[in-house]
Amino acid sequence: MTDKLDTILENARAHCAEDIRPNVDAWNAAGVWPRAASDKAAALGLTGLYAPEEFGGQGLSLGDGIRVYEELGYGDGAYAFALSMHNICTYAGCGFGTDAFKEKWARDLTSGRKLANFALTEPQSGSDAGNMYSRATINDDGTWTISGAKAWVSLAGEADIYFTVVKTTDVPGHKDMAMIAIPKDTPGLSFGPRYETPSYNFLPLSEMYMDNVVASEDNIILPVGQGLQGSLMAIDIARVSIASGCCGLMQAALDTALAYSSNRKMFGGKNLDLDGIQWMLGDVATELEASRLLYRKAAHALGTDEGPLMAAHAKRFVPDCAVKAANTCTQVLGGMGLLQPYGLDRLSRLSQMLRIVDGTTEISRVVIGRSLQKRAKTLDPLPIPKGFGET
Ligand SMILES: Cc1cc2nc3c(=O)[nH]c(=O)nc-3n(C[C@H](O)[C@H](O)[C@H](O)COP(=O)(O)OP(=O)(O)OC[C@H]3O[C@@H](n4cnc5c(N)ncnc54)[C@H](O)[C@@H]3O)c2cc1C
Repeated sequence: MTDKLDTILENARAHCAEDIRPNVDAWNAAGVWPRAASDKAAALGLTGLYAPEEFGGQGLSLGDGIRVYEELGYGDGAYAFALSMHNICTYAGCGFGTDAFKEKWARDLTSGRKLANFALTEPQSGSDAGNMYSRATINDDGTWTISGAKAWVSLAGEADIYFTVVKTTDVPGHKDMAMIAIPKDTPGLSFGPRYETPSYNFLPLSEMYMDNVVASEDNIILPVGQGLQGSLMAIDIARVSIASGCCGLMQAALDTALAYSSNRKMFGGKNLDLDGIQWMLGDVATELEASRLLYRKAAHALGTDEGPLMAAHAKRFVPDCAVKAANTCTQVLGGMGLLQPYGLDRLSRLSQMLRIVDGTTEISRVVIGRSLQKRAKTLDPLPIPKGFGET
């Protein structure tokens, strides 16, 4: 497995150097998903990372495969994010899909001939994911008729299939939720106007509308009752993937600052000779090392009882470090840090986006807070002195 992982990481590094870094500004200017680049990523084995080899995947563990996004994130965090979502859907489809689904879609997804994305968020329900309205009626012939609207759908109109979370009754709560994959060409499926996102303009994002869309029961990925819980497991994988991508972003910011400050003359020496500059960049380097250790530990915890908490720690800590890193590195370049060709402004905006997507920093804090409450229950309570609100 190590040889395979080494090859895949080397492929991701080469893809970043040859395809992402030289072209990302042009992708953003064009505002079009770079399908030729994602086709190349597919040819390099980057679109079926965790899918079994019998379906054409790489068969990597989550703990190993997630490191790919650190390599891709060195080029662009939004590109890394989109491929991570495709890989998670592919993993879910190959692992939990029906035999008929696997027969029809598995090889197309692992080979990247077809791209997939995940549609959970709705206009009224982001963090509060349980408050969704999209509703499927299960018909006598087993097909599902679905109506509703999703928001913030990445790869909107570009992906070939959307792993969509729906309710199956009018009863409030999540016990009736399910996930079903809806192919792009299904009658009744449409997309709203694109959101304007100047720093990752090549990633199409919009609402997705389902107007009496009829989907085959072959496409059920998570049956009724498992929709929300299964989605949260997928989101844990996404959270760690984002933390991995953020490490690539931090390294890119740091390298830009080093390459500039070691060349910028001032006070008879170079900018990087100043202690203050070394300390600023030293802090970035320390937080990058800590972030790497944290996301890699979290990646290996996925699938265990510790997985959700470790994913929350990684998603809480690493994107915050990335925001700080991008801002610090901008400061190190002085005015030049604000200019477009150095790319730091793009990294600042991307890092902020990565703090929000797939569960905000605050939602990670909620998960961590709940686990602290559980631990507190295992401890002998310390006495509160009389007069200090003893209960
Ligand atoms: C670039 C991008 C791509 C995305 N792609 C997808 C996709 O492909 N598929 C998909 O389904 N979704 C996608 N999303 C949606 C994303 O997951 C949501 O934006 C995210 O979950 C937050 O939801 P929201 O934007 O509705 O914010 P809200 O839920 O409205 O939150 C607003 C603020 O309230 C805070 N908050 C919420 N709850 C609490 C609390 N309990 N305590 C304290 N503060 C709280 C939040 O942290 C946030 O700061 C994407 C988002 C972005 C930005």
